Amino acid sequence: MKSNFPLKAAALICCAVIMISFAAAALPLSQRGAEGAAEVPEYDYGPLKAEQNAVIASEATEYACAMYIDGVLAGYYKDVTAAKEELEHQKSLLLEQSGVDYISASFSNNVTFKSGSYAVSQIEAAESRAFPELSAEIRYYETVGYTLDYEVEYRDNAELYYGREKTVSEGRDGYSETTYLVVLSGGKELSRTAVAENIVTEPVNCVIERGVKAKKPSADVTPIFIVPYDGAITSEYGTRYLMGNSFHKGVDISGVKSSSECYGAEIHAGGDGVVIQAGWMDGFGYVVIIEHANGMHSYYAHQKQVACSVGDVVKQGDVIGYIGSSGRSTGPHVHFELRVPDENGKYYAIDPEPYLIDYDSYPHRG
Ligand SMILES: [Zn+2]
Repeated sequence: MKSNFPLKAAALICCAVIMISFAAAALPLSQRGAEGAAEVPEYDYGPLKAEQNAVIASEATEYACAMYIDGVLAGYYKDVTAAKEELEHQKSLLLEQSGVDYISASFSNNVTFKSGSYAVSQIEAAESRAFPELSAEIRYYETVGYTLDYEVEYRDNAELYYGREKTVSEGRDGYSETTYLVVLSGGKELSRTAVAENIVTEPVNCVIERGVKAKKPSADVTPIFIVPYDGAITSEYGTRYLMGNSFHKGVDISGVKSSSECYGAEIHAGGDGVVIQAGWMDGFGYVVIIEHANGMHSYYAHQKQVACSVGDVVKQGDVIGYIGSSGRSTGPHVHFELRVPDENGKYYAIDPEPYLIDYDSYPHRG
């Protein structure tokens, strides 16, 4: 470095300016060999001024391999092998980040290497650079499961009264799996092709028997309750297919033309009795329960608002509430239910239809 000595003063003055231009330009200072100790006259620094040349020569330099991804500097490495190792590492990181169990991947970036001597300051400045974006096409298999909905099959049953239903066999959904070949590019899905389909379980149809026998009044039952709202029967007692296959424990009465027309209409007590419940119950929403002299309990559920209190003595036809759609309900209607006690005093629902006066004269609407 003895040849630099006389120029040291100039070097100090220009130092800050040149350091800034190095950082901005980030270009190799020279293409000299690894042996390159600084000897100013041997190198061609192009248009730089003599003083600057001297400063450049005085900069500490290091042999390194610069790697460029699509023309963008990725960083400086010990040698080409180290640069390639880093590239492979970055590729595997990208594949890992894709989060898929890939079968193959291809990278389309143009990668170039330039070995030579670079200023240490330049190498250090590059250390904080983010690695340029790699573009990969990643191929992987994805298996997606699908539910195969079961169907409901109806059969006539001459032994069952009209309007009744009996579930002969429960339906069961099936399941299938489709395997796709998915191609990802730049994190976005480029294509998806079904390559295999496998029905894991076949669906099993639900079989429901529908009664076709004409309805006869039951000989031993005298109708004693009035239908609580002068509307249409929208659902009868028995098994039905609504919100899952379930047993409907009462009769639904709603508007004749539409459900909305009955919203807020008066609900009448089916018979004389004492109110034993007037308020909210899960499922029923706002409900009134009347205990009758014969021991039966009549229910009036899904009300908008109740119009009586526990302990009230009511007469048949009295207004006890207003039709709503509270609780587990799909629209405005009154759910009328009758319960009787068993030998242990536990109440259970019975078919209320034979107990309702002129039940068959009410229109039905599905
Ligand atoms: Zn109901």
